[in-house]
Amino acid sequence: MHELTLCHSMIEIIEREAILQAFQRVKVVRLEFGALSCVEPEALRFCFDTTTQGTIAEGARLEIITVPAEARCRDCGAERAFHRWGTACPDCGGLRLDVRGGDKMRIKDLEVY
Ligand SMILES: [Zn+2]
Repeated sequence: MHELTLCHSMIEIIEREAILQAFQRVKVVRLEFGALSCVEPEALRFCFDTTTQGTIAEGARLEIITVPAEARCRDCGAERAFHRWGTACPDCGGLRLDVRGGDKMRIKDLEVY
């Protein structure tokens, strides 16, 4: 399960940060992910709540910020933001798009105690 893997790596990052920045508890985790990363926000929330149990992120609130993907149309050169796969170029209707970013996930910031 994709979301479960994401949650485990998220916790690893948080625990590493906790050592570096010497905090004990996490209040809020702001997670930024690309609209094309194929993550279900609800599934992610559920996984987050279960996987953080017993960790320093237990009880933390997960805020999910979706960022659109940037893509360039190979046919007409238009650069647009895209929110899902399989979208045609709004300018020429072309489907040959070079996607740059928008499929990544990162922790934007943490609110800690
Ligand atoms: Zn186009």
